[in-house]
Amino acid sequence: MAIRTIRIQGDPVLEKTCKEVKEITPRIRELIGDMLDTMYEANGVGLAAPQVGILRRLVVIDIGDGPVVMINPKILEMSGEQTGDEGCLSLPGKAGAVTRPNYVKVIAYDENMEEYEIEGTELMARAMCHEIDHLDGHMYTEKVEGALHDVTNEDEE
Ligand code: ZN
Repeated sequence: MAIRTIRIQGDPVLEKTCKEVKEITPRIRELIGDMLDTMYEANGVGLAAPQVGILRRLVVIDIGDGPVVMINPKILEMSGEQTGDEGCLSLPGKAGAVTRPNYVKVIAYDENMEEYEIEGTELMARAMCHEIDHLDGHMYTEKVEGALHDVTNEDEE
């Protein structure tokens, strides 16, 4: 496993739509491990494959409850609303207020291509929305309310 280079906003790879993962190949398995290493190394709570330059629908999240791998994730349900500060490993040192659903239910495949559903509220709901947006080329800065502000050592996605 290895730490990969995190792409920074302005890199065109962050603006593209990712393709579905069809099967777990050795390369995909290695990518999942590397993405987890890279996320933990950067003290992030989530990382999407395009953030390491790979245009595949693959996300890793850990809000402190252990790693979650989401392949080809789709949002099935969302409800409620939360507004709070959001950051991104592709825009280090910055954060801004974003309104997201307070509850999200997602269907995805795990690292063995087993389909599963996962629900999340608050930070988990925010992280899932943020990371899935990356798979369609969207950054949270498109949704930010007001100005970005500087942060140090805050959890970033
Ligand atoms: Zn992000």
